[in-house]
Amino acid sequence: MSKTIKKIGVLTSGGDSPGMNAAIRSVVRTCAFHNIGCVGIYRGYQGMIEGDFKELGPRSVNNIINKGGTFLKSARSQEFRTPEGRKKAYDNLVKEGVEALIVIGGDGSFTGGLLFNTEFGFPVIGIPGTIDNDIYGTSHTLGYDTALNTVVDVIDKIRDTASSHNRLFLIEVMGRDAGHIALNAGIGAGAEEILIPEEDLGLERLLESLKKSKTTGKTSSIVVIAEGDKTGKNVFELKDYVESNFPEYDVRVSVLGHMQRGGAPSCFDRVLASRLGVKAVESILEGKSNLMVGLLNNKVELTPLEQAIKGHTEIDRELLRVSDIMSI
Ligand code: ATP
Repeated sequence: MSKTIKKIGVLTSGGDSPGMNAAIRSVVRTCAFHNIGCVGIYRGYQGMIEGDFKELGPRSVNNIINKGGTFLKSARSQEFRTPEGRKKAYDNLVKEGVEALIVIGGDGSFTGGLLFNTEFGFPVIGIPGTIDNDIYGTSHTLGYDTALNTVVDVIDKIRDTASSHNRLFLIEVMGRDAGHIALNAGIGAGAEEILIPEEDLGLERLLESLKKSKTTGKTSSIVVIAEGDKTGKNVFELKDYVESNFPEYDVRVSVLGHMQRGGAPSCFDRVLASRLGVKAVESILEGKSNLMVGLLNNKVELTPLEQAIKGHTEIDRELLRVSDIMSI
């Protein structure tokens, strides 16, 4: 393995997700394993512009594998969108002796990283961290599995009260553009119907399904709705719509919100973070750049950052069919 790089910088950017800490830990310890320096950059690109750096060694990342969020903090930086901001960031990295960058974040963070590479020839490797699982080139982003488990756990609790009172619950989960959380957590939690941004299932179908479940003897139901579903109605408007068609239904709404981003990472996310961190550092040491590390067919693979940014993830349509069959 060629080791021309002597020091790597690592940052977390955009929305935080469980598993980011475990990924930082992995990057730091892999650097130590290969005897190269590692610098933690606080508050994403904004900290890079302000020179908010700290040298990290293997003991700096004790006791964080089990923590949600990111101890390096995350930020959205307007200044990094300007050439002047990026030049400041570059000058700071050079002053610090940092020769390559690992960006843990979503497609926006990767776009910034790619631009930085184009302008300064600075090696950049991305690690996908977002609960939405909407990044091309990986079957799982960091935090997605944890978010699924959180959502299923909460819906299980809601089910207890739904069945005690014969209620219909409309549960909104995160996902403006991607229905991965809604679809998978919906099936995992036994939802009656699942509404997602990728597929217009139509309001009529929702009513039909509720009608059917009533006639087949269901006394309570759970409907899982992604934030960006295609009905054109928000979850409170959907409640009014269902109630106007079924006055006998006692409909309740639960918007899960930011709780989906928090919590201790699942074992899956911890293992994924550890694997991706190792691959990110070793790819830099092999002279690679402009790539994202991801999981494909349970193998850690590299995808060009440009493809990861532009490519679209597809939902598994077979899951829609499975959901249909389950709600008979
Ligand atoms: P999330 O999944 O939470 O949206 P993200 O990484 O996509 O994560 P963004 O807010 O889109 O989050 O981007 C994070 C940061 O990356 C921005 O605040 C900005 O500093 C930088 N960035 C995004 N797009 C660009 C761009 N076109 N040029 C330069 N920097 C960018």
